[in-house]
Amino acid sequence: MNHATIFKWSSCPGELNIPETPVSQIKRLHIYDFDNTLYKTPGPSRILYTNRTVGRLMSNETLTNGSWWDQPCFLEESFKMCVASTKERFWNEKMISLASLSYKDPETISLVLTGRKQALFADLIEKMLDVTRKLAKTKKLNKNNNLDDVNEDENYSLYEEWETDPNFLKFNAICLKKKLGRIPSILPTFQYKSDLIADFIRNYPNLEEITIYDDRLRHIKQFKLFFQDMRPRPKFQWFVIPVPQVAINLDPVAEYSLVHKVIKEYNELKTINEQFLEIKWTPKCTGFFLTMESQRRILKHAFLVSRKSNLKRILNLSEYPMYIPICEPGQSISLNTIAEMYVNDENAATSLEFLQKFYNQRKSENRKNVEFIVTHFSFKPIPSPREREGLVYFKVRPKIRSTKISTSFEKGTPLIIAGHLTEEPSDKYIRYEFTDNYMRENKMIWTPLIKTITIDTTFGNYSKMRF
Ligand SMILES: [Mg+2]
Repeated sequence: MNHATIFKWSSCPGELNIPETPVSQIKRLHIYDFDNTLYKTPGPSRILYTNRTVGRLMSNETLTNGSWWDQPCFLEESFKMCVASTKERFWNEKMISLASLSYKDPETISLVLTGRKQALFADLIEKMLDVTRKLAKTKKLNKNNNLDDVNEDENYSLYEEWETDPNFLKFNAICLKKKLGRIPSILPTFQYKSDLIADFIRNYPNLEEITIYDDRLRHIKQFKLFFQDMRPRPKFQWFVIPVPQVAINLDPVAEYSLVHKVIKEYNELKTINEQFLEIKWTPKCTGFFLTMESQRRILKHAFLVSRKSNLKRILNLSEYPMYIPICEPGQSISLNTIAEMYVNDENAATSLEFLQKFYNQRKSENRKNVEFIVTHFSFKPIPSPREREGLVYFKVRPKIRSTKISTSFEKGTPLIIAGHLTEEPSDKYIRYEFTDNYMRENKMIWTPLIKTITIDTTFGNYSKMRF
């Protein structure tokens, strides 16, 4: 039998490289996961959707035509970005270097092993490897596509250092999930991967070492359990190496239109009993949106509050981004007021220029950044069938006291961090206006923070996609 096991599990004929070493002399098996281990695969961007919608987008139960991980269009779009990029590397360099060493060693078999389905992804992954290898050898051309006119400064290939490495992005085989033998359906990913490993152990009698690189913590644990009691031969060793997950998100505009396309296809193909899906937007929220770093600081503090207040689950702070509302979601505030806040002047007349900036904040120079000091917190348990759920609020004031801030709330009501609007039913518990009366009636008090927190925000408005 000559490496029949590699043939059996291989999914991409063009990427099959049968070792010259005889089966009996193979000592090591090195296995590389694909998504977020070798390649920085994008997941759904958390900024675009509510948490619940992210869950639905990734579930084959909702999207019966194929969830995020079963739709090649998202990976394809990411690879388009990869080829066009002169700045960012979409392949994990550390993994690529290790994979090159694995492939070079004649006594090692190196595999890409992924839970992606062969029927859907074999061609795309084969193309990704092939094109990237070619890119490493070709100096990128400038915009005119003129071979004689290579810009030496920035248009060199991003993978230039591998230009002369014959082992760059080469593996003995690429293994995707496929139907095998008499097994009626496609197996869960971990089971598929462990079946493959067991088959290699059986058929390579002198295999002494197996190394697995993977980013999924659940699989890391499962692999460790799988190997723990295994002693197929005296010298056998195994290594399961957790790889820090790396991802590069898609461009939000491209991502939106792909999701739109997937939902449209779903609706066209769905059976009568399946739900019609419609993309909607959450009510527009207006206020001061926390930066990622500020949100992290607040979450850390909210965790401390939850311990003190004996809450197990905080309902209102789980979505990105958190914000300081100046009106209730869905309400709008007068354009004049927006212009006033934008220039920090009560007498500012509504100017088209400010409004255009306000509504076009994808450009960073249009953003109006304001710092706040977080001074107090308060919490409120809510009646719920689950145990100890509640809401946590933080009271803030502008760092520069003269900063002009208007709200549609009752005069004297404090500014607070509310958390971004989620979806029903949690929304109905979230409060935006904390008058003294409301606080008294609900037995809530503002507790001063021992150490105040400074946060950075951007003035704007925001809504998320849901279906
Ligand atoms: Mg992975």
